Amino acid sequence: MLKKAKNILKNYYGYENFRDAQKDVIESILNKNDTVAVMPTGSGKSVCYQIPSLIFDGVTIVISPLISLMKDQVDALQEMEIPATFINSSISYTEIKKRLEEIQNGKHKLLYIAPERLSSAKFWNLLNNLDISLLAIDEAHCVSQWGHDFRPSYLYIEKMINQLNNRPVVAGFTATATPEVRKDIIKQLKLKNPDVYVSGFDRENLTFTLRRGVNKDQFVLDYVKTNKKETGIIYAATRKEVNRINGILKDNGYKSDRYHAGLSDKKRHQTQEAFLYDDINIVVATNAFGMGIDKSNVHFIIHYNMPKNLESYYQEAGRAGRDGEPSECILLYSPGDQQIQKFLINQTETTAKRKQKQMQKLQKMVDYCHTTNCLRKYILSYFGEKDLNNKCGNCSNCNDSRQLTDITEEAQKILSCVYRMDERWGATMIARVLAGSKNKKVLSNNFDKISTYNIMPNYTIKDIKEQINMLAADGYLNFTEGKYPIIKLNNLSFKVLKGKAKVKLRIEKKYHKISTDNDLFSELKKLRKQISQNEGVPPYVIFHDKALREMSYYLPVDNHSMLKISGVGSVKFKKYGRKFIEIIKKFK
Ligand code: ADP
Ligand code: ZN
Repeated sequence: MLKKAKNILKNYYGYENFRDAQKDVIESILNKNDTVAVMPTGSGKSVCYQIPSLIFDGVTIVISPLISLMKDQVDALQEMEIPATFINSSISYTEIKKRLEEIQNGKHKLLYIAPERLSSAKFWNLLNNLDISLLAIDEAHCVSQWGHDFRPSYLYIEKMINQLNNRPVVAGFTATATPEVRKDIIKQLKLKNPDVYVSGFDRENLTFTLRRGVNKDQFVLDYVKTNKKETGIIYAATRKEVNRINGILKDNGYKSDRYHAGLSDKKRHQTQEAFLYDDINIVVATNAFGMGIDKSNVHFIIHYNMPKNLESYYQEAGRAGRDGEPSECILLYSPGDQQIQKFLINQTETTAKRKQKQMQKLQKMVDYCHTTNCLRKYILSYFGEKDLNNKCGNCSNCNDSRQLTDITEEAQKILSCVYRMDERWGATMIARVLAGSKNKKVLSNNFDKISTYNIMPNYTIKDIKEQINMLAADGYLNFTEGKYPIIKLNNLSFKVLKGKAKVKLRIEKKYHKISTDNDLFSELKKLRKQISQNEGVPPYVIFHDKALREMSYYLPVDNHSMLKISGVGSVKFKKYGRKFIEIIKKFK
């Protein structure tokens, strides 16, 4: 049977081999066992129920929480000429009726539905008339109240299964589940002796980076400038921040847009579509954006603020690199982030017990932002993985790539300015004087007459303030406590002033590019975009970036070599193969 499954994988999906986890899960389902599969994002969960659906008689019902995701999956299946459809609130009653009839007539192998559908007993009756071989539950952790994403409508699933005349094989899929939530999934869905597969949570192609105390706006601007052609999401904690950051990006000429719950349905839909169709390459969003984002070529996720827990963080960060390409997940932490999250937790209406649980999860998140050990190891052990390596070599703690830079001279200038101003001022005034500002307060205090006025003319006030903060963090000067902290010198400051100590700090390295591009790749992307517009599906539904990148590397110009490209199956080859070959020929 697995051989049959493998043939389907090759012909429809264009992939040579199953990944290890996929093989186990598919085998279990084909043996008609209830199954729970905990597999990281991008590991190919959908194949695990789609392929059995083609082998089994009857129809497979897929319960999926978000409308846009459903449409995407069904589009992708139809592209491969696998008959599938979906039913949710986005389609009219007459259309629903039509689709149900089609299903009863055996036209579709897969039917995607939203869990809310199951609240109606009438719908249960309809399901009872179908020959259902497999029930696949996506984002199965939503059934658990201990998870981070509980959806009451998921509780209908078990009730629905219970009343079916013929119980199908039930398989739950999730990317994030702590051991506690895993047990709860089995309990809530009343699974029968399920096979449970937990494949590693690790996403090897993701680099985790944490930055504390950087100038966030500047960081974001530098980053997107270096990675102009890449696609990414910037998450911020509040709508106001989202609007502001998006404004900055737009003012600087970037193709970005925003998404949060305060915008109209229409506007949100517009942003999402523009992103899916590669018309914009950056979305700035609150955590309202994403459950439905199945876009495979997202290559960076920047968290402008710390999220509320590690489940959310890993899920949001995990939207990067679904195509397996190297991708970056960056969290910019500042102490204020913690205050925002505490405020939000206190505001939610829930039991004291749940609030306490949320506070505990928040603390784990804050600890992540301060650990000096491997970030990946921290995340993976949070999700219950054991026997991990101490260093992954692919996170900012394992790989502190920032270089030690000697800034003794700048430090001396700053410290002597503090001294000349009698240790009575805060960072802003010191920075103004050093930068030669004509601010009123500077002039009225005659600071333009002191010897340290305008001795750092090449730095902005912001830059100097940042250097002051870094000097403070490493103990070269002290801030007094209180609302308006004043800078004081200490022993180490005087050593530096006297030339007896050097100041070396890790200065932010300028960002490198995530990946390289070439002309052919751009041309292939153009063709893909054209086809996508004609067919009315997002570009990555035609071919993933990875497939185009392989084409631009291997230059396949005949059927045989084209079919070897990962993601080019015989169905898609028939539809598009020649068009891509025509372009590749021009470059050979
Ligand atoms: P998940 O739902 O687990 O996040 P998807 O089902 O969306 O992941 O699959 C992620 C990507 O991996 C898709 O681009 C899919 O086509 C690809 N993929 C799935 N199975 C394989 C395989 N066996 N070999 C290569 N790529 C695969
Ligand atoms: Zn690491």
